[in-house]
Amino acid sequence: MSNFTQVTMNTPVEPLINDEYTGEPPSKRLLAHLQSQREREVKIVGMYCGYAPEEIVRALGLVPASLCAFSEASIEAAEEVLPANLCPLIKSSYGFIMRDACPFFAISDAVIAETTCDGKKKMFELIADRKPMHVMDLPQLPDEPEALDNWTLMIRKLQKFLETQFNRTATDDEIEQAIRAANVKSRLMNRVFSYAALTPPVIGWPELYDVLFLAQTASAIEMAPILDDVMMKLEARKQNGYVYGGKRAPRVMVTGCPIGPIGGGAAKVLTIIEEAGGVIIALDSCSGMKPYADYIEEGTGDPVRALAERYLKYPCACMSPNTRRLTETTRIIETFKPDAVIDVVLQACHSFNIESYKVGEHVTKNHGLPFLKILTDFSQSDVGQIRTRVEALLESC
Ligand code: SF4
Ligand code: SF4
Repeated sequence: MSNFTQVTMNTPVEPLINDEYTGEPPSKRLLAHLQSQREREVKIVGMYCGYAPEEIVRALGLVPASLCAFSEASIEAAEEVLPANLCPLIKSSYGFIMRDACPFFAISDAVIAETTCDGKKKMFELIADRKPMHVMDLPQLPDEPEALDNWTLMIRKLQKFLETQFNRTATDDEIEQAIRAANVKSRLMNRVFSYAALTPPVIGWPELYDVLFLAQTASAIEMAPILDDVMMKLEARKQNGYVYGGKRAPRVMVTGCPIGPIGGGAAKVLTIIEEAGGVIIALDSCSGMKPYADYIEEGTGDPVRALAERYLKYPCACMSPNTRRLTETTRIIETFKPDAVIDVVLQACHSFNIESYKVGEHVTKNHGLPFLKILTDFSQSDVGQIRTRVEALLESC
């Protein structure tokens, strides 16, 4: 018999991050952090993608800010220019910029963009005159021999752009230091995630999001004491037999397109999973755990090439073939032991939509787990239909 006491997720426990933004959407804490940097005259670089090498930004003493938006509110405005049948993430991001209503874009001194999916790269053309922008040409056949050379060159070009833009330079030693700091942060983040991997877990997705979204912008030095405190609280929960969700709640791995923060349109899927009795133990997306899944090789003597190597391994559906998505899925399944996998695909995201077939085959045939693809946008119109499908999935666990 288990020693764990079943405690519902509504049982009050001390918040993991306890500050004036506790209980607020993560975006508020994020913006406050950026504003405090700005007051210290630190320059801010907006980024749209998991392929943007944050370590170059950090090595130059700059601070990164994620610019992807996840709200339905700006989509109508965006559709005055963009086609309606485009990914909601692109429309939402563009709509806020068009209406001068994106505080993260407004606070950015420059923007890094990449040639990932067609929608994003064409949207970048429409906003290129609003901020100094550098577009990185991302190789999309990551296993070809030239890919590494080309991506190394693209990172060097980004470095040059930022150096010119902000009138400063970064030595290879400074980039190496930024790599070591990034690895420290990833190790700490993975230790936090290990409390979601526990059976039963002691942390749920809203708290994971609090940590994940702050980590988007805070440096390793800023995050280390916060994460130490978070882990102390998680360890205490574990020792006290706290359980997040029901003790026998089906464990769900969520994979796919970026979902965005609490309050964002696609986060409805996460809420529905919990309301249906499931507990989310792994969030495999760019707005989730994915940025911390791998480490950058240290001490190679060529830190930019080491960065290129790591970022080329990033398993996004814009890569072909994206075999690392499947090996990463296996790693997550073996570590987090889900009872089911849900693939969240944003409407009109063809690459994740098509890749979902392979992911589903892999999950069901190689791991024997139930799998559900949910194609959605940022509206609330499909909540009932998603709920029915999620409930049916969890009943089969
Ligand atoms: S899903 Fe792919 S294109 Fe989108 S942010 Fe992540 S890495 Fe970039
Ligand atoms: S979700 Fe898909 S279509 Fe949308 S920006 Fe990301 S890769 Fe592009």
